[in-house]
Amino acid sequence: MKVHHLNCATLCPPAPGPLLNPERKMVCHCLLVETRDGLVLIDTGLGLDDVARPRARLGGTFVLLVGPKLDAAETAARQVEALGFQRKDVRHIVPTHLDLDHAGGLSDFPDAEVHVHDPEITAALKPLTRLERERYRAAQWAHGPRWDRRKLEGDHWFGFEAVRAVPGLGDEVLIVPTAGHTRGHAAIAVRTGDTWLLHCGDAYFYRGEMDPDRRRVTPLLDIFQRIVQVEGEARVRNQERLRILAREHAAQVRVMCAHDPLEFERFAHGAAPR
Ligand SMILES: [Zn+2]
Repeated sequence: MKVHHLNCATLCPPAPGPLLNPERKMVCHCLLVETRDGLVLIDTGLGLDDVARPRARLGGTFVLLVGPKLDAAETAARQVEALGFQRKDVRHIVPTHLDLDHAGGLSDFPDAEVHVHDPEITAALKPLTRLERERYRAAQWAHGPRWDRRKLEGDHWFGFEAVRAVPGLGDEVLIVPTAGHTRGHAAIAVRTGDTWLLHCGDAYFYRGEMDPDRRRVTPLLDIFQRIVQVEGEARVRNQERLRILAREHAAQVRVMCAHDPLEFERFAHGAAPR
């Protein structure tokens, strides 16, 4: 299966490098996977409507504090087309969760089936807290996505439980429960030959957090992930499990998160460790 690494939105929060990261920006690292059953998009970043009407779709607070670049050429829709495909070739979307910076592209692929853990869809459609009302944007699914509500049950996979394959794709794409950042957050595993690529979404934010010898994170990203977490204990526990996975199964599983620009560059240019 061929995997394309796409940055589907550059985010430039007005924060100094030492607090954020040396690159002073974040990306929305998405995967476009060519499978026998059409294209599969893992996460969607921001979409065309977000770029066109940012305040209405994303809200003024997000635009101010997160500083999205708002470039239509970065959207998954435009990048899929630039690769020579049509948007309708995207048959499946597997978001790690439905935060506004991950679900913005859903409306650009209205025919795709959208596979998400049931608790995440419930949280997004019926937000209970102020935090959830800010992070989930109803406008991003006003078109009525073809939801496939995935149950939290399944098999074991490298120490994780309740792991399920996305239906219709063999065992090539797996949904791995990693709640904490949101109620139904998941990491998405993609089989690449004999090894796996694991998109960890927002289970961590800085490459140093996966350092098996010395976990490290910049101050702003550390505070940010605590502020936006829904279940702190679960988040910390799942991040630790990912760190163990990265350490003990480095030859079989390569991990990446949604927002780290250096990780994205390494994967996009084929320099990530195999
Ligand atoms: Zn995010």
